[in-house]
Amino acid sequence: TPLLEVRDVTFTYRPTRRDQATGQGIHDVSFVLEANASLGIVGPSGCGKSTLARCIAGLQEPSRGQILFHGDRVAAGDDERLRASYWPRVQMVWQDVVGALNPRRRVRDLIAEPLHLYDRRPQEQFEDRVLELLDMVNLPAALASYHPHELSGGQAQRVGLARALASDPELLLCDEPTSALDVSVRGHVLNLLRRLREELSLSIICISHDQQAIASICDEVLVMENGRGRVEALGA
Ligand code: ADP
Ligand code: ADP
Repeated sequence: TPLLEVRDVTFTYRPTRRDQATGQGIHDVSFVLEANASLGIVGPSGCGKSTLARCIAGLQEPSRGQILFHGDRVAAGDDERLRASYWPRVQMVWQDVVGALNPRRRVRDLIAEPLHLYDRRPQEQFEDRVLELLDMVNLPAALASYHPHELSGGQAQRVGLARALASDPELLLCDEPTSALDVSVRGHVLNLLRRLREELSLSIICISHDQQAIASICDEVLVMENGRGRVEALGA
C-alpha cells in the first residue's frame, strides 16, 4: 500500500450567498504518493490547492472520494482518532508558520508544543529533543530562548520546520514554504528540505508558486486547473 492515496476526491463548497455559483472547490482529484516520494502541487490562485491540502490534512471531509493513509481512510471530524494516529505523522509547514504562533512564547516552547501532545518521553528530555531539532534544521542552540520577532525570515521558517519535525512525521505538507522568504534565503531552506527528506525518509507534498522550490524538491507535480488535477513527472 502507498503512503497516501487521494482517490477521486471532490469537495464542493456550499454557496453562502444566493448569487454565488456552486460547484467551486475540487473535482475528482486523484494521486498516489509512495513513501519517501515528493509531489508538488501547482496552479493559479483559486484552482483548489488549499482545498485539497485541507482535505489531506484531515481538516475537512471530501464531499465524495477518499483519502487513504497506509490504506486507512482519513476521517475528518474524528479528532480523537486523528490526534492519536494521523496528525503526528502528517505535519504541516506553511509560510509564516512562526508568525502565526504565540509571539510571547520562546522558540524552545514553540518547538516543544507538539512534544507535549505527541511525545511519550518524560518531559525532562524535551529540552534535549528541542536542541536536537534545532540542530537538525541548522540553527544554533542559543536560538531556543529567542522570541519569534527576533528571528530572521529564514530562521523563522527553520523553527517552523523544527516544530513540524518534533513528532517524527512521515509526511510533510508544505504550503508555500519559501514564498515569504527573500530569494537569497530560499535556496538554503530548499537544501534543508532536500537533506531532511533523505535523512529522515520523509515524504513531501509541496504547494508552491516558486518554480525553483518545485524543481528542487519534487519528483512529480500535480498540475491543477479549475479544481481538477493531473499528475506530471518532472524531468530529472
Ligand atoms: P487555491 O488554494 O488554489 O488558491 P482554493 O482551494 O482556496 O484555491 O479555492 C478553490 C475554489 O474554491 C475557489 O474557486 C475558491 O473561490 C473556492 N473557495 C475556497 N474556499 C471557499 C470557501 N470557504 N467558501 C466558498 N468557496 C471557497
Ligand atoms: P537567514 O537566517 O539570514 O534568513 P539562513 O537561515 O538561510 O538565512 O542562513 C543564515 C546563514 O547561514 C547564511 O549566511 C547561510 O549562508 C548559512 N547557511 C544556511 N544554511 C547552511 C548550510 N546548510 N550549511 C552551511 N551554511 C548555511
